Amino acid sequence: MRAAFIEKPYDMKFINTPEPVIEKPDDIKIMIKFTGICGSEIHAYKGTHPTRLPPIISGHESSGIITEVGKAVKKFKPGDRVIVIPQKSCGICKDCIRGDENLCSEKAVLGTIKWQGSFGEYIIAPERTVLNIPDNISLEEGALAEPLSVAAHAVRISNVHLGTTVFIQGCGPIGIAILAMCRFAGAEKIIMSDISQYNMDIAKQIGANVVIYAKNQNIIDEISAITSGEGAEVVFIAVGNSETLNEAVQCTKNHGQIIEVAHFGNKDTPFNIKNFRWKEVSLLGSFMFVNKDFEIAMDALTNGKINVKPMISKIIPIEDCAAVMKMAYERSENFVKILFKF
Ligand SMILES: [Zn+2]
Ligand SMILES: [Zn+2]
Repeated sequence: MRAAFIEKPYDMKFINTPEPVIEKPDDIKIMIKFTGICGSEIHAYKGTHPTRLPPIISGHESSGIITEVGKAVKKFKPGDRVIVIPQKSCGICKDCIRGDENLCSEKAVLGTIKWQGSFGEYIIAPERTVLNIPDNISLEEGALAEPLSVAAHAVRISNVHLGTTVFIQGCGPIGIAILAMCRFAGAEKIIMSDISQYNMDIAKQIGANVVIYAKNQNIIDEISAITSGEGAEVVFIAVGNSETLNEAVQCTKNHGQIIEVAHFGNKDTPFNIKNFRWKEVSLLGSFMFVNKDFEIAMDALTNGKINVKPMISKIIPIEDCAAVMKMAYERSENFVKILFKF
């Protein structure tokens, strides 16, 4: 099969490699059609991701067509258009029983050393991780289900409701997916920030009320002006560094809430605790998604509650993976989401 292979840091190659095979009765073999490049794969490319370690076939945002099913598979057949929830949890620990599959310490994530990913033309996935793509959703949109699920989880655990004023730091794919889910949840005013005019324009198309250009506007002053000096009720961190973390506190209303969704890397992050305490702000982590978030994301797509097509900036043949990964890492061109196609 064809695959994009990260052999060592900063070295991605297009290769031909043997297909994975069905081993267990509940396994399903899927021919991948589209797979997105996530920020975590750029970390994998740099060799800085904790579990996506080269040499590796990474990839976890995908859609495809079933080519083969194991003996015990009941709900699917060859030819079905599907997506895969890219985490296999143990199903029996206390976290799994509570429905917190994302917190299971035994889970395997697609595109890591434990589970070969969708940058390969075929993957094997257990039946419980597979979902049908409804007829009115394209395979390209299906590949966005994973970032939308990350956003669904973040919004679902937040205090966002009808009428909430929200500030989202960052107009990357996760920031924009959070925007779409906040709109769906009934947020009233959504303010965003970024340093790329291209990404800011996409955020506006998808429904941001105000997008602050972080290069030459003072974010804290702007948020203060828009919210009559109070700050946003809920702030989502979708760009992870010390600056955004401390800025989030300053942009949050007294007694407001910060949801941390971004990858901060492995280093410690300086944080001004005093500002945080003096405003009695809550800070909540949001990690990946649970199965229910995938159902919510697919339902939102299927029933037209969100339109995220403008997020897809480029669709690139897998054969060109090396040049595209280098471009994505260097950000030498504008994009929100890049999909590889097989
Ligand atoms: Zn992702
Ligand atoms: Zn578990």
